[in-house]
Amino acid sequence: MPYGFSFDLSKISKSFFRELARVSKQKELHTRIGIRARSMAEKFHLSEMTGLDVPEALQLVEDLVDVYVQNASQRAKFEKTRKRALFLPHCSRKYMDNKCKATFNPDVPSYKCAHCSPDCQVNKATTMGEQRNYDVYVVPGGSCIPSILKKFSYEGAVGVACGQELRLGGEALDKNGLAGQAVPLLKNGCSNTNFSLKILEKTL
Ligand code: SF4
Ligand code: SF4
Repeated sequence: MPYGFSFDLSKISKSFFRELARVSKQKELHTRIGIRARSMAEKFHLSEMTGLDVPEALQLVEDLVDVYVQNASQRAKFEKTRKRALFLPHCSRKYMDNKCKATFNPDVPSYKCAHCSPDCQVNKATTMGEQRNYDVYVVPGGSCIPSILKKFSYEGAVGVACGQELRLGGEALDKNGLAGQAVPLLKNGCSNTNFSLKILEKTL
């Protein structure tokens, strides 16, 4: 399910993400998250930089902190896994129409990138995953993930998506006892979205 607003964090300073990781490690987080999110949104001028109103900016920061907290709590278990899947969002493809040469298999259900465009993020991320022995799925939404997990037995998974889709995917992984790691989109909007390949590489 998409957010009810669009965001683009591509131009936000890198120290914002360092601070997210730092804030996420703090033990008293569950009681102070609202205060922390507000102070981060103010410190990094999130509303001014992104055009989001204050409640939207706060929701975004809180969701990102949640992702970092979940990643940290799952990391040790994830590192012990061998058979892994990588789920990439279809909205980060260079083309959303038939210029994208990916093939869709409704039985999986997933796209498979055909590597038609060297500068496509999904192409680069697919190669990155395959080189590390991941099975890579380019999915139209988090609701495809339960069927994929039912068909193939994985121990761990990495997912790239916006916060709300990550939540859906995370629930599917929990139900199947898989260790997961998430990479949040920097820009949402359901087409021409993007994420950090550097963060993905580190996560894989
Ligand atoms: S590189 Fe892959 S995902 Fe990107 S447009 Fe081509 S086939 Fe589609
Ligand atoms: S992952 Fe992409 S397509 Fe799916 S809801 Fe989020 S922005 Fe939209």
